[in-house]
Amino acid sequence: MAVHKTNIVILTMQNKILVIGSINMDLVVQVEKQPSPGDTVLGSDLMTFSGGKGANQAVAAAKAGGLVKMLGKVGSDAYGKELIANLVKNKVDTALVVTELGSSGIALITVDSKGENMIVVSSGANRKLQENDIYEEVFKDISYLLLQLEVPLLTVEMAAGLAKKANVKTILNAAPAQKLPNSLINNLDYLVVNEGEAEMISGKKVKTKTDAKLAASILQEMGAKNVIVTLGSEGLVWRSENDAGDLAAHKVEVVDTTAAGDCFCGALSVSLSEGSQLSEAVRFANAAAALATTKEGAQSSLPERSEILKILS
Ligand code: ADP
Repeated sequence: MAVHKTNIVILTMQNKILVIGSINMDLVVQVEKQPSPGDTVLGSDLMTFSGGKGANQAVAAAKAGGLVKMLGKVGSDAYGKELIANLVKNKVDTALVVTELGSSGIALITVDSKGENMIVVSSGANRKLQENDIYEEVFKDISYLLLQLEVPLLTVEMAAGLAKKANVKTILNAAPAQKLPNSLINNLDYLVVNEGEAEMISGKKVKTKTDAKLAASILQEMGAKNVIVTLGSEGLVWRSENDAGDLAAHKVEVVDTTAAGDCFCGALSVSLSEGSQLSEAVRFANAAAALATTKEGAQSSLPERSEILKILS
Protein backbone atom coordinates (compact mmCIF):
# COMPACT_ATOMS: atom_id res chain seq x y z
CA MET A 1 0.00 0.00 0.00
CA ALA A 2 2.80 2.39 0.93
CA VAL A 3 4.49 1.70 -2.40
CA HIS A 4 1.22 2.38 -4.19
CA LYS A 5 0.90 5.76 -2.44
CA THR A 6 4.47 6.69 -3.42
CA ASN A 7 3.62 5.94 -7.04
CA ILE A 8 0.65 8.27 -6.89
CA VAL A 9 2.82 11.09 -5.51
CA ILE A 10 5.36 10.64 -8.31
CA LEU A 11 2.63 10.75 -10.95
CA THR A 12 1.12 14.00 -9.68
CA MET A 13 4.56 15.64 -9.73
CA GLN A 14 5.00 14.95 -13.45
CA ASN A 15 4.78 17.37 -16.38
CA LYS A 16 7.42 19.84 -15.34
CA ILE A 17 8.10 20.85 -18.97
CA LEU A 18 5.25 21.98 -21.21
CA VAL A 19 5.93 22.08 -24.95
CA ILE A 20 3.47 24.17 -26.95
CA GLY A 21 4.05 23.75 -30.66
CA SER A 22 3.77 21.91 -33.94
CA ILE A 23 3.08 18.23 -34.55
CA ASN A 24 3.66 17.07 -38.16
CA MET A 25 3.86 13.91 -40.20
CA ASP A 26 6.86 13.98 -42.57
CA LEU A 27 6.12 12.17 -45.85
CA VAL A 28 9.44 11.39 -47.52
CA VAL A 29 10.17 10.04 -51.02
CA GLN A 30 13.69 9.54 -52.40
CA VAL A 31 14.13 10.60 -56.03
CA GLU A 32 17.08 10.44 -58.40
CA LYS A 33 16.57 14.08 -59.43
CA GLN A 34 14.08 16.69 -58.15
CA PRO A 35 11.27 17.37 -60.64
CA SER A 36 11.16 20.74 -62.44
CA PRO A 37 7.76 22.49 -62.79
CA GLY A 38 5.48 20.34 -64.97
CA ASP A 39 7.64 17.17 -64.59
CA THR A 40 6.64 13.82 -63.12
CA VAL A 41 9.42 11.70 -61.64
CA LEU A 42 9.23 8.25 -60.10
CA GLY A 43 10.49 7.88 -56.56
CA SER A 44 11.04 5.32 -53.81
CA ASP A 45 8.31 3.84 -51.59
CA LEU A 46 6.79 6.46 -49.30
CA MET A 47 8.37 6.72 -45.84
CA THR A 48 6.46 8.39 -42.98
CA PHE A 49 8.12 9.91 -39.91
CA SER A 50 6.61 11.74 -36.96
CA GLY A 51 8.02 15.27 -36.81
CA GLY A 52 7.30 18.94 -36.31
CA LYS A 53 9.59 21.08 -34.17
CA GLY A 54 7.24 21.00 -31.19
CA ALA A 55 6.87 17.22 -31.16
CA ASN A 56 10.58 16.67 -31.89
CA GLN A 57 11.56 18.85 -28.94
CA ALA A 58 9.01 17.16 -26.67
CA VAL A 59 10.38 13.71 -27.57
CA ALA A 60 13.98 14.96 -27.22
CA ALA A 61 13.19 16.22 -23.72
CA ALA A 62 11.40 13.03 -22.68
CA LYS A 63 14.26 10.85 -23.93
CA ALA A 64 16.76 13.08 -22.12
CA GLY A 65 14.92 12.33 -18.86
CA GLY A 66 12.39 15.17 -18.65
CA LEU A 67 8.80 14.99 -17.47
CA VAL A 68 7.10 16.38 -20.53
CA LYS A 69 3.59 17.41 -21.52
CA MET A 70 2.66 18.52 -25.05
CA LEU A 71 -0.01 21.04 -26.02
CA GLY A 72 -0.83 21.13 -29.73
CA LYS A 73 -3.27 20.05 -32.41
CA VAL A 74 -3.50 17.17 -34.87
CA GLY A 75 -6.13 16.51 -37.56
CA SER A 76 -8.98 14.01 -37.61
CA ASP A 77 -7.15 12.02 -40.35
CA ALA A 78 -5.28 8.75 -39.78
CA TYR A 79 -2.01 10.67 -39.26
CA GLY A 80 -3.49 12.43 -36.24
CA LYS A 81 -3.92 9.15 -34.36
CA GLU A 82 -0.45 7.99 -35.37
CA LEU A 83 1.14 11.28 -34.24
CA ILE A 84 -0.48 11.04 -30.81
CA ALA A 85 0.48 7.36 -30.48
CA ASN A 86 4.08 8.26 -31.26
CA LEU A 87 4.18 10.90 -28.50
CA VAL A 88 2.67 8.43 -26.03
CA LYS A 89 5.23 5.78 -27.06
CA ASN A 90 7.96 8.29 -26.24
CA LYS A 91 6.47 9.00 -22.78
CA VAL A 92 5.13 12.46 -23.62
CA ASP A 93 1.85 13.29 -21.84
CA THR A 94 -0.73 14.07 -24.57
CA ALA A 95 -3.66 15.13 -22.36
CA LEU A 96 -3.50 18.62 -23.94
CA VAL A 97 -3.18 17.45 -27.57
CA VAL A 98 -6.47 18.21 -29.31
CA THR A 99 -7.82 16.52 -32.48
CA GLU A 100 -9.40 19.07 -34.85
CA LEU A 101 -11.65 18.20 -37.77
CA GLY A 102 -9.48 18.34 -40.92
CA SER A 103 -5.89 17.52 -41.87
CA SER A 104 -2.88 17.07 -39.62
CA GLY A 105 0.26 19.13 -40.25
CA ILE A 106 2.18 17.48 -43.08
CA ALA A 107 5.66 18.02 -44.52
CA LEU A 108 6.04 16.72 -48.09
CA ILE A 109 9.74 16.00 -48.56
CA THR A 110 11.64 14.76 -51.61
CA VAL A 111 15.32 13.92 -51.19
CA ASP A 112 17.51 13.56 -54.29
CA SER A 113 20.58 11.38 -54.84
CA LYS A 114 22.84 14.24 -53.63
CA GLY A 115 20.92 14.44 -50.35
CA GLU A 116 19.32 17.80 -51.26
CA ASN A 117 15.77 18.29 -49.91
CA MET A 118 12.69 19.99 -51.30
CA ILE A 119 10.06 20.52 -48.62
CA VAL A 120 6.47 21.77 -48.72
CA VAL A 121 4.80 22.19 -45.33
CA SER A 122 1.02 22.14 -44.96
CA SER A 123 0.43 23.48 -41.44
CA GLY A 124 -3.01 21.81 -41.16
CA ALA A 125 -4.14 21.53 -37.55
CA ASN A 126 -1.06 23.43 -36.28
CA ARG A 127 -2.48 26.63 -37.79
CA LYS A 128 -5.64 26.09 -35.76
CA LEU A 129 -3.76 26.38 -32.46
CA GLN A 130 -5.11 29.78 -31.44
CA GLU A 131 -4.70 32.19 -28.52
CA ASN A 132 -7.86 30.94 -26.81
CA ASP A 133 -6.39 27.41 -26.74
CA ILE A 134 -3.88 28.69 -24.15
CA TYR A 135 -5.28 29.41 -20.69
CA GLU A 136 -3.92 29.65 -17.15
CA GLU A 137 -4.71 26.08 -16.08
CA VAL A 138 -2.39 24.55 -18.69
CA PHE A 139 0.54 25.83 -16.60
CA LYS A 140 -0.54 23.95 -13.47
CA ASP A 141 2.43 21.89 -12.15
CA ILE A 142 4.66 23.23 -14.96
CA SER A 143 8.03 24.86 -14.29
CA TYR A 144 9.36 25.34 -17.86
CA LEU A 145 7.57 26.23 -21.10
CA LEU A 146 9.28 25.35 -24.39
CA LEU A 147 8.11 27.16 -27.55
CA GLN A 148 9.04 27.33 -31.25
CA LEU A 149 7.59 29.33 -34.17
CA GLU A 150 5.73 26.67 -36.21
CA VAL A 151 2.35 27.65 -34.73
CA PRO A 152 0.75 31.12 -35.07
CA LEU A 153 2.86 33.89 -33.50
CA LEU A 154 -0.13 35.27 -31.55
CA THR A 155 -0.46 31.86 -29.86
CA VAL A 156 3.23 31.91 -28.95
CA GLU A 157 2.86 35.43 -27.54
CA MET A 158 -0.18 34.42 -25.49
CA ALA A 159 1.67 31.39 -24.11
CA ALA A 160 4.75 33.39 -23.08
CA GLY A 161 2.57 36.08 -21.46
CA LEU A 162 0.48 33.64 -19.43
CA ALA A 163 3.58 31.63 -18.45
CA LYS A 164 5.15 34.75 -16.97
CA LYS A 165 2.01 35.40 -14.90
CA ALA A 166 2.10 31.77 -13.72
CA ASN A 167 5.80 32.06 -12.73
CA VAL A 168 6.76 29.50 -15.37
CA LYS A 169 10.14 30.05 -17.11
CA THR A 170 9.86 30.34 -20.91
CA ILE A 171 12.37 29.04 -23.46
CA LEU A 172 11.75 30.12 -27.06
CA ASN A 173 13.54 28.45 -29.95
CA ALA A 174 12.92 31.15 -32.58
CA ALA A 175 12.74 28.69 -35.48
CA PRO A 176 11.84 28.97 -38.34
CA ALA A 177 13.46 32.42 -38.39
CA GLN A 178 11.19 35.41 -38.12
CA LYS A 179 11.31 38.83 -36.50
CA LEU A 180 9.91 38.90 -32.96
CA PRO A 181 7.84 41.67 -31.36
CA ASN A 182 9.58 43.33 -28.37
CA SER A 183 6.66 42.41 -26.13
CA LEU A 184 7.44 38.71 -26.77
CA ILE A 185 11.22 39.03 -26.32
CA ASN A 186 10.59 40.77 -22.97
CA ASN A 187 8.70 37.72 -21.73
CA LEU A 188 11.52 35.28 -22.58
CA ASP A 189 13.74 33.76 -19.92
CA TYR A 190 15.77 31.88 -22.55
CA LEU A 191 16.05 32.62 -26.27
CA VAL A 192 17.70 29.89 -28.39
CA VAL A 193 18.66 30.82 -31.96
CA ASN A 194 20.94 29.48 -34.68
CA GLU A 195 23.11 31.78 -36.81
CA GLY A 196 20.36 32.68 -39.31
CA GLU A 197 17.77 33.29 -36.60
CA ALA A 198 20.23 35.39 -34.55
CA GLU A 199 20.92 37.49 -37.66
CA MET A 200 17.23 37.95 -38.47
CA ILE A 201 16.28 39.10 -34.95
CA SER A 202 19.41 41.09 -33.95
CA GLY A 203 19.96 42.63 -37.40
CA LYS A 204 23.73 41.78 -37.17
CA LYS A 205 25.57 39.39 -39.50
CA VAL A 206 26.56 36.20 -37.65
CA LYS A 207 29.42 34.27 -39.22
CA THR A 208 31.94 33.80 -36.40
CA LYS A 209 31.83 33.15 -32.64
CA THR A 210 32.74 36.80 -32.08
CA ASP A 211 29.72 37.87 -34.20
CA ALA A 212 27.53 35.41 -32.26
CA LYS A 213 28.68 36.90 -28.93
CA LEU A 214 27.78 40.39 -30.15
CA ALA A 215 24.39 39.16 -31.42
CA ALA A 216 23.74 37.48 -28.06
CA SER A 217 24.38 40.72 -26.19
CA ILE A 218 22.11 42.63 -28.59
CA LEU A 219 19.34 40.04 -28.10
CA GLN A 220 19.78 40.43 -24.36
CA GLU A 221 19.49 44.21 -24.65
CA MET A 222 16.30 43.64 -26.66
CA GLY A 223 14.84 41.94 -23.57
CA ALA A 224 15.67 38.20 -23.49
CA LYS A 225 17.11 37.38 -20.04
CA ASN A 226 19.38 34.57 -21.27
CA VAL A 227 20.49 33.95 -24.85
CA ILE A 228 22.05 30.93 -26.57
CA VAL A 229 23.32 31.12 -30.17
CA THR A 230 23.98 27.66 -31.62
CA LEU A 231 26.63 27.46 -34.32
CA GLY A 232 26.35 23.94 -35.75
CA SER A 233 29.75 22.23 -35.89
CA GLU A 234 31.26 25.31 -34.18
CA GLY A 235 29.26 24.69 -30.97
CA LEU A 236 27.55 27.63 -29.29
CA VAL A 237 27.82 30.85 -27.30
CA TRP A 238 25.64 31.73 -24.31
CA ARG A 239 24.90 34.75 -22.12
CA SER A 240 23.08 34.69 -18.81
CA GLU A 241 22.20 37.68 -16.64
CA ASN A 242 25.60 37.69 -14.94
CA ASP A 243 27.82 35.32 -16.91
CA ALA A 244 28.72 34.36 -20.47
CA GLY A 245 30.70 31.67 -22.26
CA ASP A 246 31.07 29.46 -25.27
CA LEU A 247 31.49 25.76 -26.00
CA ALA A 248 33.07 23.86 -28.89
CA ALA A 249 30.94 21.16 -30.53
CA HIS A 250 31.77 17.56 -29.61
CA LYS A 251 33.88 15.85 -32.23
CA VAL A 252 31.61 13.10 -33.54
CA GLU A 253 31.11 11.20 -36.78
CA VAL A 254 28.35 13.25 -38.35
CA VAL A 255 25.75 11.28 -40.35
CA ASP A 256 22.75 13.65 -40.49
CA THR A 257 22.29 16.98 -38.66
CA THR A 258 18.46 16.94 -38.96
CA ALA A 259 16.88 17.80 -35.60
CA ALA A 260 20.18 18.73 -33.92
CA GLY A 261 18.63 22.07 -32.98
CA ASP A 262 15.44 20.40 -31.72
CA CYS A 263 17.48 17.96 -29.67
CA PHE A 264 19.51 20.84 -28.22
CA CYS A 265 16.36 22.70 -27.07
CA GLY A 266 14.70 19.61 -25.60
CA ALA A 267 17.81 18.64 -23.64
CA LEU A 268 18.39 22.24 -22.50
CA SER A 269 14.88 22.38 -21.03
CA VAL A 270 15.51 19.13 -19.13
CA SER A 271 18.74 20.29 -17.55
CA LEU A 272 17.26 23.68 -16.60
CA SER A 273 14.18 21.97 -15.13
CA GLU A 274 16.53 19.93 -12.94
CA GLY A 275 17.87 23.18 -11.49
CA SER A 276 21.12 23.48 -13.47
CA GLN A 277 22.77 26.83 -14.13
CA LEU A 278 22.83 27.84 -17.80
CA SER A 279 26.57 27.03 -18.08
CA GLU A 280 25.80 23.43 -17.07
CA ALA A 281 22.56 23.13 -19.08
CA VAL A 282 24.29 24.13 -22.35
CA ARG A 283 26.93 21.44 -21.72
CA PHE A 284 24.18 18.80 -21.42
CA ALA A 285 22.37 20.12 -24.53
CA ASN A 286 25.62 20.36 -26.56
CA ALA A 287 26.35 16.69 -25.82
CA ALA A 288 22.79 15.57 -26.65
CA ALA A 289 22.72 17.53 -29.93
CA ALA A 290 26.10 16.14 -31.02
CA LEU A 291 24.74 12.60 -30.51
CA ALA A 292 21.68 13.49 -32.64
CA THR A 293 24.00 14.19 -35.59
CA THR A 294 25.48 10.67 -35.46
CA LYS A 295 22.26 8.94 -36.59
CA GLU A 296 19.95 9.26 -39.58
CA GLY A 297 16.58 11.00 -39.23
CA ALA A 298 14.85 13.37 -36.82
CA GLN A 299 13.17 11.64 -33.85
CA SER A 300 14.99 8.38 -34.61
CA SER A 301 18.30 10.15 -33.92
CA LEU A 302 17.40 11.61 -30.51
CA PRO A 303 19.58 10.18 -27.72
CA GLU A 304 18.56 8.56 -24.44
CA ARG A 305 19.69 10.19 -21.18
CA SER A 306 22.21 7.39 -20.50
CA GLU A 307 23.96 8.08 -23.83
CA ILE A 308 24.17 11.80 -23.05
CA LEU A 309 25.64 11.18 -19.59
CA LYS A 310 28.16 8.77 -21.11
CA ILE A 311 29.57 11.29 -23.59
CA LEU A 312 29.67 13.95 -20.86
CA SER A 313 31.78 11.74 -18.63
P1 ADP B 1 19.91 24.17 -36.08
O1 ADP B 1 19.73 22.74 -36.42
O2 ADP B 1 18.77 24.75 -35.29
O3 ADP B 1 20.35 25.04 -37.22
P2 ADP B 1 22.68 24.07 -35.20
O4 ADP B 1 23.07 23.60 -36.56
O5 ADP B 1 23.29 25.36 -34.73
O6 ADP B 1 21.11 24.20 -35.01
O7 ADP B 1 23.03 22.89 -34.18
C1 ADP B 1 22.56 22.89 -32.86
C2 ADP B 1 23.57 22.22 -31.97
O8 ADP B 1 23.78 20.87 -32.44
C3 ADP B 1 24.96 22.83 -31.97
O9 ADP B 1 25.05 23.92 -31.09
C4 ADP B 1 25.79 21.62 -31.51
O10 ADP B 1 25.64 21.46 -30.13
C5 ADP B 1 25.10 20.46 -32.23
N1 ADP B 1 25.71 20.19 -33.56
C6 ADP B 1 25.26 20.61 -34.77
N2 ADP B 1 26.09 20.22 -35.75
C7 ADP B 1 27.09 19.52 -35.15
C8 ADP B 1 28.26 18.84 -35.61
N3 ADP B 1 28.58 18.82 -36.92
N4 ADP B 1 29.06 18.21 -34.70
C9 ADP B 1 28.74 18.22 -33.38
N5 ADP B 1 27.66 18.87 -32.88
C10 ADP B 1 26.84 19.51 -33.74
